[in-house]
Amino acid sequence: MTKEIDWNNLGFGYVKTDYRYVSNYKDGSWDEGTLTTDDQITMSECACVLQYAQTCFEGLKAYTTANGDIVVFRPDLNAERLQSSCAGLEIPVVPKEKFLDAIHQVVKANKDFVPPYGTGATLYIRPYVFGKNAVIGVKPADEYEFRVFVTPVGPYFKGGVKPITIRVSDVDRAAPRGTGNIKAGLNYAMSLHNIVDAHNKGFDENMYLDPQTRTKVEETGGANFLFVTKDGTVVTPKSNSILPSITRRSLLYVAQHYCGLKVEEREVYFDEVKDFAECGLCGTAAVISPVGKIVDHGKEILFPSGMEEMGPVISKLRETLTGIQMGTIEAPEGWIQVIK
Ligand SMILES: *Cc1c(COP(=O)(O)O)cnc(C)c1O
Repeated sequence: MTKEIDWNNLGFGYVKTDYRYVSNYKDGSWDEGTLTTDDQITMSECACVLQYAQTCFEGLKAYTTANGDIVVFRPDLNAERLQSSCAGLEIPVVPKEKFLDAIHQVVKANKDFVPPYGTGATLYIRPYVFGKNAVIGVKPADEYEFRVFVTPVGPYFKGGVKPITIRVSDVDRAAPRGTGNIKAGLNYAMSLHNIVDAHNKGFDENMYLDPQTRTKVEETGGANFLFVTKDGTVVTPKSNSILPSITRRSLLYVAQHYCGLKVEEREVYFDEVKDFAECGLCGTAAVISPVGKIVDHGKEILFPSGMEEMGPVISKLRETLTGIQMGTIEAPEGWIQVIK
């Protein structure tokens, strides 16, 4: 029985569900892992995660397709990305099969929380790993916990898609040879002040430039950029300090193989941005959010698609990828895993 939840009015907030997955790492190996109803974590006041932020995470979605299957989208890529995040933080790598098994178990156990097809709502899945034992001298923990919980979230765009306004940030998100390419909690901790400041000044997001030269576009705090040139080429910034978005990689594939568009992954200079026809932000939560305006210290770049609607190319990409996800357009081999 699907839960009594008002799917159309759900926001993006935490809702406690019935089960979560927990596995512990101790004495050099991961235990088998299990589902639990206990949503609380008890640990040392000196846990490495609390003192030195030794933690990384993933985010993906489960949803109901047109034919009633419950599916997840490309979880193998999340498994691989979590492995590189773990490696970057000296966290023991979570084996890929273990990650996938955990995702399947948690979604299956909470299947009554998976929103029905057509509501636009989804079940957001949050895998994460953290250093758990007491560490006061600076070094990695010896004991870790890998957990996966799920929470139903509402449609990202309620009452229609609205282009957003972003500002060029004065502070940096990631160092040139730092941790920008791994999904670490610490990258978000340092973005909190800047996003609150942006919101206070009337902007929806921050555009981060490359910290070394401050001439090239990187990403926002939690989404990659996609631009469309006036002749219809899809362009996305390339940099070692960008988090490799699975949505962005999927959209580039869709642009090329489903929409017949030219795609370029290359350095994008901020000076070029004013010449693009469309701009969007890609991530699991929204798939693509259209950007209507970018403000650089009072100088405004208003994209031709404007502040009322999504541009035609970004709109087509979004429709195609969501169609693939929802099962109304045939997916490339291996993109969709059915939860059985
Ligand atoms: C998670 C994340 C994204 C989006 O990645 P998806 O796999 O598409 O959800 C983009 N940028 C940052 C910094 C992120 O942490």
